[in-house]
This record gives sequence, C-alpha cells and structure tokens, in this order.
Amino acid sequence: MTRIAVVGAAGRMGREVCRAALEERDIELVGGVVEPEAPELGADLGELCGAGWIGISATEDPPDNAEALIEFTTPEATVEHLSYRRPVVIGTTGLSEEQLQRVEAAAEAEPVVLAPNMSVGVSLVREVVRDLSEKLGAGYDIEVIEAHHRNKVDAPSGTAFLLAWAAAEGRGSDLDDVAVYGREGRAPRREGEIGIHALRGGAVVGEHRVVFYGVGEEVEVVHRALSRRTFATGSLRAARFVATAHQGLYSMRDVLGA
Ligand code: NAD
Repeated sequence: MTRIAVVGAAGRMGREVCRAALEERDIELVGGVVEPEAPELGADLGELCGAGWIGISATEDPPDNAEALIEFTTPEATVEHLSYRRPVVIGTTGLSEEQLQRVEAAAEAEPVVLAPNMSVGVSLVREVVRDLSEKLGAGYDIEVIEAHHRNKVDAPSGTAFLLAWAAAEGRGSDLDDVAVYGREGRAPRREGEIGIHALRGGAVVGEHRVVFYGVGEEVEVVHRALSRRTFATGSLRAARFVATAHQGLYSMRDVLGA
C-alpha cells in the first residue's frame, strides 16, 4: 500500500489523480493540497473529484503520513513545495532552467520523479523518435507539432521538448543549437534544424506529432492522449516507485524500467 497526497488537488489533473487513486487497491489517498485562499480549502476530496464523500478534507499542507506527493500545479508552486522534503512526483510543466536546478538540488536529498508526460505511450514514442532520428539521418527534416486545450499556459508543451530532445539526441546534436520555435517572415530552413510548433484550442487533451520529411517519403509518429486518466494512472505508477526509491532525480523511463 502506498499512501499519497495530491498537491494541486482542485486542478484538472489533481482531481483526475484523486479519482484514479480512489480506484486503486494498493494506493491510499491520504490528503490533497489546495491554494491557501482557495474556495476548495476544507472541501471533501472525494466530493471535489466527483467520487463521493470520503471523509478527507483538502488542506494547505500535505499530511505527515503521505509517503509520496503527486504535484500538478504551477512552476512557482512546485518549487515552493520542495520545502515539504518528501518523495515527490512532479507532473507540472513549464519549469525554467533555474527552477529545474532547484528541483535537481532537492533531488540530492529526496527521490524526485520529474515527468513532463506521465503516459506510458509517450515514453515509448520517445524511444521510437530517437531511433528514427538516428537511423533516418540528416537527409530528413524534423518538425515537432503539438496541440493542447485552450487553457494550457506553457508553450511548447513539456512533451514537445521531450520529443524534440530525443530527436536531437538521435542525431547527436544539441536541441538548443538546432531548435526553431514557429516561423514567421523570411525564415528559410537551416540544415539540421528541428522545428517546434504549438497549437492551442478547444478541449484537446494532448496531441504530439513528430514528422521526418525526406525527399521521397515522410515518416510520422503520432501520440494522442484521449483522456487525462492516462496521465493520472502514470503518476500513480510513479508514486509507487518514488515512495521506495533512494534520493535522486528520476524520469518516467526509470519508473517504467525502459
Ligand atoms: P489547472 O490549472 O487545472 O490546475 C492547477 C492547480 O494548481 C489549480 O487548481 C491551482 O489552484 C493549483 N495551485 C496553484 N498554486 C498552488 C499552490 N501553491 N498550492 C496548491 N495548489 C496550487 O492545470 P492542470 O491542467 O491540472 O495542469 C497542471 C500542470 O500539470 C500544468 O503544468 C500542466 O502542463 C501539467 N500537466 C502535466 C501532465 C503530465 O503528464 N506530466 C499532464 C497534464 C498536465
């Protein structure tokens, strides 16, 4: 049994993780953290996520008996919550370089899983993209295209970065040197460039495409998240892992043993 608390329990992902946790036999939901001034403070966590009353209230801080925290909030809140000093699964995306360094520093003392995409499929797609990039070689132009719902704040998505890094890695290049974010005006394609494009609208849960444009063929890898449940289930898998892991920074690849 792994006892978890969800940080950001009133958000879209937080509610989904609570709902998923209540359905798992080997996971016990012992707490949910919401913003200090949030109207959801004190609300029943089960009612908050639509699963019915469970007798556990949303609080400002996680309870002491939580063995792992699952965090889906904002980059600022995520970094602030490192002071809880607990094993944590971080699903929040859009962290700056400096914020990532603070996560790395925290991981020297506690186990941290940092996963911009918790779905099992994306972890495998990442491997496929790296392989394709390596084997197709420099004659193919790579473009990464992602689409998300209209409320998503950060762009491009953490997953688009993950896949673009994999594509760059496959070719032995550094993404920072070859990434181009959107194109406008006079913008001819440079050799080795990796284009990254973000679409926003409606209720799209998350779509990622990596296209390898050759001269006589195109290869396209697509991942579509159909519901937030896929991320929630992945985060619970990561929570089971992190609760017993040694200190250190882990990715979904470590969790899945991939
Ligand atoms: P959301 O806006 O619906 O939820 C975020 C919640 O965090 C809000 O309820 C907000 O009140 C709460 N929050 C902010 N500051 C807080 C604090 N100090 N204490 C407690 N709660 C606080 O957003 P969302 O769609 O749930 O996404 C949250 C994050 O997760 C985003 O960064 C998103 O990109 C990311 N995400 C990651 C994955 C993944 O697989 N890793 C999947 C989906 C979304």
